[in-house]
Amino acid sequence: MTKSHDYDLFVIGAGSGGVRAARVSASHGAKVAIAEEFRIGGTCVIRGCVPKKLLVYGSHFAEELQDAAHYGWTVEKMTFDWSVLRDTVLKDVDRLNEAYTATLQNHGVERFLEKATITGPHSVRLASGREITAKTILIATGAWPVLPDFPGSDLCITSNEVFHLAELPKRVVIQGAGYIAMEFAGIFNALGCHVTVVNRSETLLRGYDESLRDRLLQITMARGIQYRFNCPIERIEKDGECYSVKLAGQDPFNADAVLIATGRRPNTRGLGLDAAGIELGERGEIPVDEANRTSCPSIYAVGDVTDRVQLTPVAIREGQAFADSVFSDTPRTVDYSHIPSAVFSQPPLAGVGLTEGQARMQYGNIKVFSSDFRPMKNVFAERHERGLYKMIVDAGTDRILGLHMIGPEAPEILQAAAIAVKAGLTKADFDATVALHPSMAEELVLMR
Ligand code: NDP
Repeated sequence: MTKSHDYDLFVIGAGSGGVRAARVSASHGAKVAIAEEFRIGGTCVIRGCVPKKLLVYGSHFAEELQDAAHYGWTVEKMTFDWSVLRDTVLKDVDRLNEAYTATLQNHGVERFLEKATITGPHSVRLASGREITAKTILIATGAWPVLPDFPGSDLCITSNEVFHLAELPKRVVIQGAGYIAMEFAGIFNALGCHVTVVNRSETLLRGYDESLRDRLLQITMARGIQYRFNCPIERIEKDGECYSVKLAGQDPFNADAVLIATGRRPNTRGLGLDAAGIELGERGEIPVDEANRTSCPSIYAVGDVTDRVQLTPVAIREGQAFADSVFSDTPRTVDYSHIPSAVFSQPPLAGVGLTEGQARMQYGNIKVFSSDFRPMKNVFAERHERGLYKMIVDAGTDRILGLHMIGPEAPEILQAAAIAVKAGLTKADFDATVALHPSMAEELVLMR
């Protein structure tokens, strides 16, 4: 360690990227401290991916219990208690918070549960007033929900508050039609709430393949989710126990909760970046180079605060690459190609590589193969929803450019198939693989 500094590394933000970087740097022999103003674990663990997925599991029982009758089960007196699901999820969040804290502790990472502000290229000040110096500083403060500016926006909740609702709202309005909106629309709809998705455009899940988006829209409308496109919220007023929601050009209607899911911005408020001469980028992000280094040579940044790809596994890879590059002799950079992603809507969708539209623009000569099928378990349960798998292939080389799926378990299936796409396999390689029958995944090797 450099004797002139208190620590080799000071990490601001104990989320996915920050914890990985702190833990690995410490295991490489660095003296490390980390500051977190809320709870160790960050967005994914405390108020994101993990509790959301548990709510998806919890809400999915509605469908399973309904379908169970077709398989001979009689389920008497089906009732649901939101407080039980909510509290069990929050208990699991506590468990993970403790596990992440223990990991840091076991690696000798000193923890400060307070806000840290940068005061210079090698120094931070804690909220308690303590000044700390470090040879290297890593910013991993994540992102924060954006609240559009309209009268009454303070009456709305975001994904930060949604896990703590005292009661399940009978009528929910969700503004936005991205990841968070579509995932919570699915959860609330399955739990029996009346859901209205309100979006400023007529595009849901921008960036995903159009055929899959259309299929999700069609299925979710059939399940009872209502959509109001091209009409952002104009204002919200309290109306007794509920809210009056006024959309542009439409009559007001009532709702019991309004969830705003209109994107997340890099969380740089009050970080003191000026003191190190770091200027923000156009989207409010901290610009970094390939090595995660900011314009100040001793300060690095990883994860959502850099606004490269706002996904947990990417932040983790960036944190790992930072630690290996700066504190060991194994420098590495993150490969951002072929990152698989999924939306845990109901049904879920997942994709890797180029969409049909992107591939046409980039390659021109492409082939599109698809399988539009009704999963066996849906047929038996008289559920008319169909899955759709799509493979986009470079017509010149037969190499797979993109793979996109909507249907039960799509994310689980896609993760394995993404290895093949990343490895540069061809349609012929998929066709040469014998189908695993009967399964939904077999459609991957049977596409025409
Ligand atoms: P998204 O970027 O996914 O979606 C934002 C939505 O809000 C879009 O429908 C967009 O419309 C609309 N919108 C954007 N700005 C405004 C505005 N000013 N006024 C009104 N509407 C607006 O954001 P989310 O909040 O859903 O999620 C944030 C990020 O978190 C995601 O990008 C994702 O990376 C991550 N995440 C990942 C998950 C996963 O991996 N399963 C789950 C949840 C979150 P339009 O498209 O028309 O611009």
